[in-house]
Amino acid sequence: MIPVGRFAPSPTGRMHLGNLMSALMSWLSVRSRGGRWILRIEDLDPQRSRLEYARQIEDDLRWLGLEWDEGGLEDLGAHGPYRQSVRGESYHAALERLASERLIYPCRCRRADIMATQAPHQSDGRIVYAGTCRPDGMPGSGAPVADLTQAVAMRLFVPDEEILFTDRVFGERTVNLASHCGDFVVRRADGAWAYQLAVVVDDGMMGVTEVVRGCDLLLSSAQQIYLYRLLGYPIPEFAHVPLLCNSDGQRLSKRDASMSAGELRSRYTPEQLTARLARLAGIIPDGIDACSPSELIPVFDWTNIPVSESIILAEKW
Ligand code: GLU
Repeated sequence: MIPVGRFAPSPTGRMHLGNLMSALMSWLSVRSRGGRWILRIEDLDPQRSRLEYARQIEDDLRWLGLEWDEGGLEDLGAHGPYRQSVRGESYHAALERLASERLIYPCRCRRADIMATQAPHQSDGRIVYAGTCRPDGMPGSGAPVADLTQAVAMRLFVPDEEILFTDRVFGERTVNLASHCGDFVVRRADGAWAYQLAVVVDDGMMGVTEVVRGCDLLLSSAQQIYLYRLLGYPIPEFAHVPLLCNSDGQRLSKRDASMSAGELRSRYTPEQLTARLARLAGIIPDGIDACSPSELIPVFDWTNIPVSESIILAEKW
């Protein structure tokens, strides 16, 4: 089977070093095994997504030497469109399937109501839905069929059982969705599609066999695995890469101007930046100061990637 990987950036600002790391790892992973690489634009959030950011992402990837075989703004390939903002029909079809199988229900809770039910010890910011609107009856059989025309959020029933998966970097993980997040939203009250639903429908329809991304999304793989099963798609492999953090230990964000692709392009050549990323990822030893992504293909090996949730960048980068 030919590996199919993807990079799925949200065009809400200029990419930073961490985004470039995820892109490079995902590209190398499939290229080192003769696979295909997809660029999908995750512009689900209409307020924050901008076309010029998507164009800039394409330009930054090309500058670094990461070409895609499918996707992008030109919708290259057979599984388009590759922008989530125009893929609503596919998400709707998936939602209809979940509704007809009695696996989702309408939820009228406001954010404040949900926050009021959170346990005080939940300090990691994770929100666990308490099931306030969960109807009586068993999901899949006795529960009512949700009416999708209502302008309310739609939630997926989740089972109180362990979801087990193996991440290429972090190894075996077990997540109980009932205690990790509770029944989660698949369509918001304003009609916007939830990331969890969109990402599964897209990866499923696009034939993605491996998902490589930052390890902030490691545990959400369990929500996605559950959805893959319900929607009948094969489950891809997962590989989560450490998050890059600034010298204060904060993970890089689009607000870290000095680590934005624009700043990095003014300080380094593509080969210098690639070598710096590859050294951080343990792919090449210290002392190699410049190389292209293609030169890394023969030496790329997942076993060298540090098994760590974060990598702190030296002050002078
Ligand atoms: N669009 C997400 C982001 O930019 C990535 C989602 C994914 O790779 O699954 O953080």
